Amino acid sequence: MNIGFIGLGIMGKPMSKNLLKANYSLIVSDLNQTSVNELVALGAMGATSIKALAAQCDVIITMLPNSPQVKQVVLGEEGVIAGAKPGSVLIDMSSIAPLSSQEIAAELAKKNISMLDAPVSGGEPKAIDGSLSVMVGGDIALFEKYYDLLSAMASSVVHTGDVGAGNITKLSNQIIVALNIAAMSEAFILATKAGVDPQVVYNAIRGGLAGSTVLDAKAPMVLARNFKPGFRLNLHIKDLQNALDTSHSIGAHLPLTSMVMEIMQALRTHDMGELDHSAIARFYEAQTGT
Ligand code: NAD
Repeated sequence: MNIGFIGLGIMGKPMSKNLLKANYSLIVSDLNQTSVNELVALGAMGATSIKALAAQCDVIITMLPNSPQVKQVVLGEEGVIAGAKPGSVLIDMSSIAPLSSQEIAAELAKKNISMLDAPVSGGEPKAIDGSLSVMVGGDIALFEKYYDLLSAMASSVVHTGDVGAGNITKLSNQIIVALNIAAMSEAFILATKAGVDPQVVYNAIRGGLAGSTVLDAKAPMVLARNFKPGFRLNLHIKDLQNALDTSHSIGAHLPLTSMVMEIMQALRTHDMGELDHSAIARFYEAQTGT
């Protein structure tokens, strides 16, 4: 089975390396030739074009920033759809708008190409050690067929419903992560202004009810003033925008998501969009003057 992998960024590069380690035969593509060369040095084949990659593969994985990039790479004139064989499958692991997943799946279906939307959670560290959580939308038989492939990159692979349900689940995840970082930042500001060291607060509470994976991943970054991504604020803004757009179209009310979105957008206007999303703490610091 030939696997195509398009998008060798912070996440896609380690994910594709894990597929190579699991002995899958890989053809890779990225706008960044250095990333392609790195994978080729490890045994992958570099694609001459997206269309050619699709023609050579049974499964095409995409790990791209957002809906427009996935639509362009998959549905563009020289895209996956132009080369892929009938019977092949697209597994889009990017975090994109659920509606876009459904639109892409519908176009691919016209050419007898199937699709799973399979976004991930866990960030770069879990992409590197192959312990991502994958949330998968699409046909259950297809999910079962590619469970082992996805498991080569993940420790949790869960079927969540039809195409689009993977990204609905991912947006739910992103709301929880964003609100957690904001809650942590708010708590640290209270402690700091009251003269209690936030490091001590973190040490004291991490084993209690407020303890969480988010707290353990992001509190040390905030305390060390290390805002190197990780997960870029701009990508999280993209996810919350997708969540808010989706909520408007289905009549769900997300007041806290809207508030954190405003905080993130304020940071972006101050050139912090390329920092890790833990930089939400900087908003509170700027407001409070610490
Ligand atoms: P990234 O920006 O580091 O990587 C994206 C890659 O796609 C880049 O290497 C870019 O060159 C490539 N690319 C863009 N357009 C392309 C095209 N037309 N053809 C070929 N390659 C193209 O982003 P990332 O952090 O790896 O995130 C990828 C996806 O995973 C996003 O949807 C993001 O929201 C999601 N995600 C990221 C994290 C994280 O911690 N970084 C965690 C979970 C999910």
